[in-house]
Amino acid sequence: MRKSAWVTIFTVCLTAGQTVGFPEQTENPTTEASFFDDAFAEIDSEQYEGRANFRDVPANLTGAHLYRVQLKNNEHKRVFLDLIKTEQIDVWMQSRGKKAKAVFMVLAANVEKVNMRFYEADITLKRLSDNVQKLVDEENPSENVTKLSNSKTGYALTWKAYHKASVIHDFLDNYATNYKDLCTVEKIGNTVEGRPIKIIKISSGGDKKRPAFFIDGGIHAREWISPATVTYIIRELVENRTAYSFADEVDFYIVPLMNVDGYEHSRTRDRLWRKNRAPGALCKGVDLNRNFGYKWGGKGSSSSVCRGNHRGPSAFSEPESQAIRDFILKFDIGTFKAYLTVHSFGQYIMYPWGYDYMTPPDGTELQRVGDLAAAAVKKLTNTSYKVGSSAKLLYAAAGGSDDWAKAVAEIPYAYTLELRDKGDYGFILPAKFIKPTGLETMAMVQVVAEEMLKAERLKKN
Ligand SMILES: [Zn+2]
Repeated sequence: MRKSAWVTIFTVCLTAGQTVGFPEQTENPTTEASFFDDAFAEIDSEQYEGRANFRDVPANLTGAHLYRVQLKNNEHKRVFLDLIKTEQIDVWMQSRGKKAKAVFMVLAANVEKVNMRFYEADITLKRLSDNVQKLVDEENPSENVTKLSNSKTGYALTWKAYHKASVIHDFLDNYATNYKDLCTVEKIGNTVEGRPIKIIKISSGGDKKRPAFFIDGGIHAREWISPATVTYIIRELVENRTAYSFADEVDFYIVPLMNVDGYEHSRTRDRLWRKNRAPGALCKGVDLNRNFGYKWGGKGSSSSVCRGNHRGPSAFSEPESQAIRDFILKFDIGTFKAYLTVHSFGQYIMYPWGYDYMTPPDGTELQRVGDLAAAAVKKLTNTSYKVGSSAKLLYAAAGGSDDWAKAVAEIPYAYTLELRDKGDYGFILPAKFIKPTGLETMAMVQVVAEEMLKAERLKKN
């Protein structure tokens, strides 16, 4: 499916393959399926592949509107679900709660009809944009604007614009050359279309017993703020290293762009593309964040190839998710103490589980550290992040990378971040927000690293 046209979607992550002696605890048995969980399950039970507009044709975003809505009662929800099912609206983000909230797009051809429908049902909409194409056109400054800094740094990457994949990879290679004692770059696999997936290790050495911290970005193609922010973190850990006392006590392993093919596709063909570019006769692409092998195939993941949350034919069917799995599992269990996977949007700090409405046995600790991270961000930039377990906070989604990291790789501090914003721009966040978003995400990394180190010291004493 096309990403955009449809429902689908989003992001959240979790869960994994076999249960390796991991007690699953229902901490709050009153939490159950939300409206959106039920709605998407209902939609997914119906067949859509025959429909022409499910094909991989980029939507015409000219004159498309973006809205925010609160669904206050069952009648509202019924109307909303019907509009999703008839493909008149494309949901970009949804969250649960008594009043289900959503951000959604309406293509120009449907605007009048859809507005009438909401009006008749007495549902108030907040219009965020009356031309999504204009958001796209204004999102990213031209190359000329960003060239200024190239000569100073020796690499073309900036945090004033969103750059192509090769520029991101050249930035990593530049560090491997110029910071030899600190940085190592490795190719950990190739994408479906044969592009390299690169990882950078940032470590000042030591006795190899340091706790390791894994970060990945760009699982979902259209979430451009993710790789931009992750490269910001890399730069901080290298060029501004002395500002962080934890930096010499932790080994960082960072993949700034996992879904390289999807990202390039979103830059050149279809700004709202989400999945990888796995081949398919009817529709392309697997949602990599439904493809990880813990509880694969469960709630919030679709077997339909055209859906934005298509989980793939089997767990770890995709070379991109395989690359992450194989890299992490090369190390002894217990090496990695923290895992952050960076997405957008909505401003959430989430921890497992995503596959169901439960939290792990150490859910209280994950909540505590998440709360500290949110407080640090609030203090720094006054941006609010909500903290909670994925399925309880947003919606259930099985096959996500953080559930796998937690359950199978046994990484204690596993989080999914949904970065800015809350929907004013959604996926099309203007490049001027890269720096503030990078700054606040670095604050979250700092909190997680410091709390993880404290926990390690406690264990030793
Ligand atoms: Zn995502």
